Amino acid sequence: MIVVRTVADLRAALYPRRTGAVGLVPTMGALHEGHATLLRAARAADDTVVMSLFVNPAQFNEQADLAAYPRTEEADLALAASEGVDIVFAPEAAEMYPAGFATTVSVSGTLADTLEGAERGRSHFDGVATVVTKLLLAALPDHAYFGAKDAQQVAVIRRFVTDLGIPVELVVCPTSRDADGLARSSRNTRLSPDERAQALAIPRALSGIQDAATAGLRDTAALRAQGLAHLEAAGIHPEYVALVDPVTFAPVDEVAQPVLVAIAARVGATRLIDNIVLGGA
Ligand code: AMP
Repeated sequence: MIVVRTVADLRAALYPRRTGAVGLVPTMGALHEGHATLLRAARAADDTVVMSLFVNPAQFNEQADLAAYPRTEEADLALAASEGVDIVFAPEAAEMYPAGFATTVSVSGTLADTLEGAERGRSHFDGVATVVTKLLLAALPDHAYFGAKDAQQVAVIRRFVTDLGIPVELVVCPTSRDADGLARSSRNTRLSPDERAQALAIPRALSGIQDAATAGLRDTAALRAQGLAHLEAAGIHPEYVALVDPVTFAPVDEVAQPVLVAIAARVGATRLIDNIVLGGA
């Protein structure tokens, strides 16, 4: 495994490998088993696996969140090596945002304005879209791997990849969970033991909604109310509990086609997100 810090070095390392398929797994580091599932999917499908490791300042709306974001490069490189990554691209911010940087990739409309876009501000998905565009252009992968945990991020990326005609196939990997059901996240390390126990109300609210939908409840307002009650009973006051179209993120009234159920909530000072799809495959 080699570690490169510049786009030029990444392109040089990839040049002799272009005869085979290249997979890119973008990450912000602080790697955990959830990231490992993406790396394994790439390793199984691609001849060359590139992992990017870049804490993207442009997508953080809170300076405190950016400052507190865990940075564990040494452990991340060890995990990447153990998962068979070929190339780690770990640039400094100045490599990604050179002096005079003045371009933003911005997805407009409900998709980027709602839920995470509303809570974290317009700049969040602009930051994600701009950095992912740059990573895709730097690596020019055949496949790029993303986690279903960040469902709105996936939908935003799918939108601009389609709109800009970027030649890459997006691969979405299922949410990886701890044995108790909590979605794995780099932010989970910030939870105290009590907060971690409280946070379990989030996956439980989602599975309660899933059970009710499976039992025949189709009215999304009723499903939402049930999830909200579950969270409130655990002392969690969520930023949102939303049932939306998984592609456009427009609200839906009834579970007649696949519906994304998304929750965001702070547990203590830690912001967590999770989701499931009802009526999906
Ligand atoms: P991050 O480092 O948080 O930006 O995440 C890098 C990638 O890993 C994103 O595509 C995430 O959606 C994905 N990811 C993070 N946590 C999980 C998880 N628990 N299960 C599946 N994918 C995940």
